[in-house]
Amino acid sequence: MPPKTRHVPVVIVGGGQAGLSVSYHLKQRGIEHHVFEKNTAAHTWSTQRWDSFCLVTPNWQCDLPGHPYDGPDPDGFMKKDEIVAYLKAFVAKVDPPLREGVAVNRVARREDGLFDVHTSDGDYTASEVVVASGGYHTPIIPRMAEKLPGSITQIHSNQYRNPGQLPEGEVLVVGSGQSGAQIAEDLHLAGRKVHLAVGDAPRCARFYRGRDVVTWLADMGYYEMTVDNHPLRDGVRDNTNHYVTGRDAGRDIDLRRFAIEGMKLYGLMEDYQDGSLRFRDDLKRSLDSADRTYNGINAAIDKYIAENGIEAPPQEHYSPVWVPGEPILSLPLEGSGITSVVWCIGFTPDFRWLDASVFNGAGSPKHKRGITSEPGVSFIGLPWLNTWGSGRFGAVGRDAEYVVGVIQKRLGTERPALKFAV
Ligand SMILES: Cc1cc2nc3c(=O)[nH]c(=O)nc-3n(C[C@H](O)[C@H](O)[C@H](O)COP(=O)(O)OP(=O)(O)OC[C@H]3O[C@@H](n4cnc5c(N)ncnc54)[C@H](O)[C@@H]3O)c2cc1C
Repeated sequence: MPPKTRHVPVVIVGGGQAGLSVSYHLKQRGIEHHVFEKNTAAHTWSTQRWDSFCLVTPNWQCDLPGHPYDGPDPDGFMKKDEIVAYLKAFVAKVDPPLREGVAVNRVARREDGLFDVHTSDGDYTASEVVVASGGYHTPIIPRMAEKLPGSITQIHSNQYRNPGQLPEGEVLVVGSGQSGAQIAEDLHLAGRKVHLAVGDAPRCARFYRGRDVVTWLADMGYYEMTVDNHPLRDGVRDNTNHYVTGRDAGRDIDLRRFAIEGMKLYGLMEDYQDGSLRFRDDLKRSLDSADRTYNGINAAIDKYIAENGIEAPPQEHYSPVWVPGEPILSLPLEGSGITSVVWCIGFTPDFRWLDASVFNGAGSPKHKRGITSEPGVSFIGLPWLNTWGSGRFGAVGRDAEYVVGVIQKRLGTERPALKFAV
């Protein structure tokens, strides 16, 4: 006898904070569902972050539905283990119908309008599929990596744990977004000689005029701004995150200061050719641009303070503490001391298991607040799904409530789902 196909009104693919937030709101409305998680809840936080990792966002922004941060340090930044504990406590509170260790391998529309959901634990049908599988799937490793000699150890940021994991010698970190800048700092603080290929990521201050910049921006309404109101519109979803850290109660990351302390900075890494690493002549421009953003955010805070008559201690704007000299465009690898490379240039999404016409040609879904043009297919947890906090702890709960509201309406008006034997 062929195995039975079970029907669930709603299937959630992924049991991270996004999938669990959807489960919370479905449970609130009494809507039956399954959460399929191919690993475990909190898997990405426990297995894909380095040992010294801590949140960049202050703890008070951890606002999962029914589970706001209530620890002793709302203005602090949870460390990796504390984040995992926070999520596990959320799982305990929600008590979701979570199926850990079950991968969704394929989802496709059937002729009767339902979805076939093929999992590693059998087949299901569903009326609604919520994609909560995260946005950081395939680590980007450029083709030039293949040309580096085999003697060089190469890892991606999601494999980086600590300086001791890398062979002795100097380390080339490629990319200066949030991960690259923090990993370069981690290595630098451990006394490793770091070479950093700087990209075009912006940066922001940790604290300005007596408060965390995030707190100022929250008061200024920045986190309420939706994609539709953002000057870049959908383009904001491709923005690189600002680099800053929550480490040791939070501080700026100033690459120029690292340079004074011995870190070697280069422009964007372009290639490895004839035994030499090749860099673009854009280091000065990238550092200047990051500082412009930094000072621009602070200037916006100044304006807000002035307009609202707020008492706040004055603070100077940032002036560069170091400027690059003659650019190094080519660095012979031999003799450089470099023995390892950490690629910190991001990820591409992988939704190949979802057979639906909801993608933009570059592998990213087209949607409005997570709702696609394909009835029954929704996304949650992606950067700027609706607001800045959508891909973070801050607003995923709010987005989940919206998506579940749409699902509830659709389930309420659809024809009764075909029932398959359970
Ligand atoms: C380096 C880094 C630092 C970050 N720092 C912060 C921060 O300071 N503050 C903040 O708020 N946010 C931060 N974020 C962003 C965000 O909070 C995390 O990316 C978070 O993990 C997103 O949660 P999620 O549930 O959307 O996705 P994930 O945590 O990635 O969860 C998705 C889950 O889906 C599962 N899955 C995937 N495919 C399938 C499938 N086919 N079948 C079944 N299960 C599947 C995975 O196993 C995974 O557990 C950071 C992200 C990164 C990468």
